Amino acid sequence: MRIGIVGGGLGGLLTTALLSKNHDVVVFEKLPFVGGRFTNINYKGFQLTTGALHMIPHGNDGYLAKLLRECGCNVKIINSNPDGLFRVNGKDYAYKDLFNLVGLKDKLKALKMAANLKMGNVDKSISFGEFLESVELALKVGNAFTGWALSLTAYETPMEEIIEMAKNYHKFGGPGVPIGGCKGVIDELVRVIKNNNGVIKVECEVKGIEIEDDKAYIIGEEFNEEFDVVVSNLSPKLTEKISNVKIIKGKEPKPSKGIKICVATKEGLIKHNGVLFTPECERINGLNQVTNVDISLAPEGYHLVMTHQTQLTNNVKKEIDLGLEDIENLFNGKDYEILHIQSYRDEWPVNHASNGTDLDNVINDRLYLVGDGVKGKGGIEVEGIAMGVMKVVEHINLLNKTN
Ligand SMILES: Cc1cc2nc3c(=O)[nH]c(=O)nc-3n(C[C@H](O)[C@H](O)[C@H](O)COP(=O)(O)OP(=O)(O)OC[C@H]3O[C@@H](n4cnc5c(N)ncnc54)[C@H](O)[C@@H]3O)c2cc1C
Repeated sequence: MRIGIVGGGLGGLLTTALLSKNHDVVVFEKLPFVGGRFTNINYKGFQLTTGALHMIPHGNDGYLAKLLRECGCNVKIINSNPDGLFRVNGKDYAYKDLFNLVGLKDKLKALKMAANLKMGNVDKSISFGEFLESVELALKVGNAFTGWALSLTAYETPMEEIIEMAKNYHKFGGPGVPIGGCKGVIDELVRVIKNNNGVIKVECEVKGIEIEDDKAYIIGEEFNEEFDVVVSNLSPKLTEKISNVKIIKGKEPKPSKGIKICVATKEGLIKHNGVLFTPECERINGLNQVTNVDISLAPEGYHLVMTHQTQLTNNVKKEIDLGLEDIENLFNGKDYEILHIQSYRDEWPVNHASNGTDLDNVINDRLYLVGDGVKGKGGIEVEGIAMGVMKVVEHINLLNKTN
């Protein structure tokens, strides 16, 4: 089949790489570079990013890693060990040790919660915040986790999503960092697509998607190309806006917003390669120091620390100032330099659909959606994208067989 892919973000490129084995594929990307919110920006020798924090939520064992291997990408992903620690009262604790920081009554409550969550024995209709709120520290820790991983507060996160995430965590484990950062993944996807004779067109903005009974068309200012199938890597809302198909039939997906601050430090802030969750910060939910995995992500003699925070109010300046105050407290007298502050919202958010508000990937036999507006259930960030891509690729390959 001839397949057109609109958008060269992680979702679009992963779909293209998988389909390029058996189909003719063409990617249309509006920017001069591919990778969307998952690629590097070189700034003074530091590998900053267009979005992601150089982390893959289930590391070398999750959905994304599996699909990368399946399409022939050689990406080395180093699993974090420990997955994450939690800074409470200035000290870093493993998850299991947090239970000892509260009184006996709260400890029993928290242990019961953890056991119920592991067994899926919880009310699916409530939020994660409601589930945790009877133990103050548990709610703070929950907020740090959802803020870091989903750019949502615990109260904004549906319990149903948390149950699925817990299942994935027990199946695949915690995060990992790809060597070369986000761009390490994107470069390999591009290599595979080109090896399979796929075509990637940059600076090629798509203005229209026309779906007819027997064909589909991708239209720009100076082109109108015919395809058997179109895969859109744009948000469901934008895809609907430029196409002749009604996509959002029920509730609109709700985007999640966030702020990332990149910090240079000679001394380093943490010794491990996992996440440092910061439940006691005013705004920062967590941070990582990716140079503990790959020193090439910063100039010689430096570490790169990336912090993330949910955007809680619409006053972005105030949100950033509170984040900077947190950083000052976290560094506690150590030398550091703020490299870059990025806020993510509107057309360039953390997620086009916050977890629990994603739409389905399959619109009809000719039009499919991939990306973070259509993640699989319980799929954190790029793992959720990979789950959606898997579904689309299976559907298209089945369609090809039956036609
Ligand atoms: C601050 C922050 C931190 C994050 N941290 C992580 C993390 O550590 N780990 C993780 O797994 N995820 C993380 N994420 C989320 C992850 O970066 C995104 O979910 C993912 O990159 C989105 O990929 P996508 O393919 O859905 O969309 P995009 O990357 O947005 O790709 C869509 C592409 O379509 C192109 N496009 C748009 N309109 C048109 C048009 N009309 N014509 C042609 N092309 C068009 C865009 O230019 C873009 O390249 C983070 C996100 C942010 C913002």
